[in-house]
Amino acid sequence: MNHRAHPSALLAAITLLAALRPFDAQTEQHSSPQFATADLAFVDVNVVPMDTRRVLRHQTVLIEGDRITALGPADGIEVPAGATIVEGNGRYLMPGLADMHVHLDREDLRAYVDHGITTVRNMWGFPDVQAMQREIAAGELLGPTIHSISPGLDGTPPKWPLTQLVLEPSHADSVVGVQYDSGWRTLKLYQDLHRDVYDAIIAAARTRGMDYVGHVPTRVGLTHVLDSGQRSIEHLGGYANELGGAGGWWMSINEDRLPFVVAHTRQAGTWNCPTMAIFAEIAKRRPRDVADRQIANRRRVVKALHHGGAQLLIGTDSGIDIVAPGSSIHDELAEFAAAGLSPYEVLRIATVEAAEFLGHADEFGTVEVGRRADLLLVDTNPLDDVAALRGLRGVVLRGTWRPGPAQ
Ligand SMILES: [Zn+2]
Repeated sequence: MNHRAHPSALLAAITLLAALRPFDAQTEQHSSPQFATADLAFVDVNVVPMDTRRVLRHQTVLIEGDRITALGPADGIEVPAGATIVEGNGRYLMPGLADMHVHLDREDLRAYVDHGITTVRNMWGFPDVQAMQREIAAGELLGPTIHSISPGLDGTPPKWPLTQLVLEPSHADSVVGVQYDSGWRTLKLYQDLHRDVYDAIIAAARTRGMDYVGHVPTRVGLTHVLDSGQRSIEHLGGYANELGGAGGWWMSINEDRLPFVVAHTRQAGTWNCPTMAIFAEIAKRRPRDVADRQIANRRRVVKALHHGGAQLLIGTDSGIDIVAPGSSIHDELAEFAAAGLSPYEVLRIATVEAAEFLGHADEFGTVEVGRRADLLLVDTNPLDDVAALRGLRGVVLRGTWRPGPAQ
């Protein structure tokens, strides 16, 4: 069993063991920790914990409230009376997915969950997002756990509702202050910011301990964005300009520059959320040979970033009516696999690494005692093929089992 249990779960386990102490002396040789209660039990299931590349066969996993409270060999863990039992039947239990680039709509919340997404990063804040967060936390609304950034800060012309225009460096501090006071802790930087304004926004963000993520503004450029400590870059913005060879946007890659740009990204500590599936969807509107080259070159950059040690995020850009909320996560996983990452590497990005990016690695992303019970049950081993996730048998959302349509 792991040694990094959630403090409250650890305390509960210690209290429980103390209560059971009289029996320990007699059964010490054969006993495993006994759990008096559980709400949900997966019995004799294959666990893909995602802490390392491994499958734990014939496991029992107990869940109480929204936490995983036990995980171990099926013949060593008693299932408490009263728990809802889900038989493994040779299936695989893995962590829920994070879609790290969405534009939320209340109507779409259920679709994310139904397709295995238990956490989302909302990429353009608006007041109703904060209401959704509260209602989901209170159990009044079904939806993934939401992390959200601010409305976009941009230059003219404003392109989306709630765009916060920042046209002068001297205005940056007050605009950032309003975002902070509105409850946002991560700023969205958008395409048409001027460089002096960008710098002033970042100074104001740093003063308040805020993060900043988003596009690579055309007038700022990739190098300056990386040097400014921007936490994530969306859509591989700026990379086409920096790496472009002959033929136009994404039509070729300057191989001589690629290692330098990758190393710069890694050294800056900036993550990339390339949103590959939506790009492919848009590219299909162009002539076939153009689309194929652009998609192949983007995959090449994703692979180079990954193998060069720069970090990646899996996000779909759902919610702007181009790709479907929920199901498009499977297209994004497939794009990363097509770029040359192994299924384990792809799924790590969509689970553990997303949690690391959000600063919640002790909360979700692995199947471990103490972690939030956000889990997926699938028929076949996802470490063999990420397409296994297209056939979900069910989802555990914060401890609640939701069988899929096939159950
Ligand atoms: Zn977006």
